[in-house]
Amino acid sequence: MKWTQLIQKKVKLKFIVGLLLMVSVFSISNYLTISGKSDPVLLDEPLAVEHEQRQELEENENQSIVSEPEDKPGFYENVVTVANGDATLVLVNKNYALDPSYEPSDLVLPNVLTVGGNRNQTVYLREEAAFYLEQLFMAAHEEAGLEFLARSGYRSYDTQVALYQRYVSENGQEAADRFSARAGHSEHQTGLAIDVTADSVGGDLSILFGETPEGIWLKENAHRFGYIIRYLEGRESETGYQYEPWHIRYVGIEAATEIYENGWILEQYLEGQ
Ligand SMILES: [Zn+2]
Repeated sequence: MKWTQLIQKKVKLKFIVGLLLMVSVFSISNYLTISGKSDPVLLDEPLAVEHEQRQELEENENQSIVSEPEDKPGFYENVVTVANGDATLVLVNKNYALDPSYEPSDLVLPNVLTVGGNRNQTVYLREEAAFYLEQLFMAAHEEAGLEFLARSGYRSYDTQVALYQRYVSENGQEAADRFSARAGHSEHQTGLAIDVTADSVGGDLSILFGETPEGIWLKENAHRFGYIIRYLEGRESETGYQYEPWHIRYVGIEAATEIYENGWILEQYLEGQ
């Protein structure tokens, strides 16, 4: 019995020692693994930071070239008065304004149908724009049997002052700014823009016009006559205006075609010039 007890004790002891050894080996290896893992992190950190800084520098360098649009001023901030009011491609928007005294010298009355027949008051355009508007109206009639009605062409600075003030008092400034330009910022002062509509929307300037046969024809064909739909659907944040399927701007056939084919707004076209 004593022998067996002794053997059993020895076995137990060996087992316990073995167990202790295993635990300590496991702990040491675990420690080594942990320290092995942590060392490179400590070593890499300065490199990683340096690498990040380098990346940041590179990104900053790229940003100054690529992300120029983000640096653009907000609407009506840092307004520039344009010097080329008479140019066919003059840019007039919420950041580029015409001088209050600017008035085109070649305004004429296009021979087109108008809303209410009061064309003398409202639809003056510069000579070239007027000629091509007549061609556009005639083509719509001959090619598709559609009749457009002109509604509002050239507007003087003073007229725009009164119109904008009326919209602000009726709708508040924030709403008015989405569909009406402040004086000096209206394309209507260039004599190159005109609002057109049709009897299908009661001669109104309505977003519904864009879905009428006339509005669809205008979208697809205006460029052939040098006109673009100036304030496109879904581009409000860039143009600063709600979608206006009725407001067309004369820019010349070449520019209008390029703008139409690329789905651009005028600003995009001019940035590439
Ligand atoms: Zn307009």
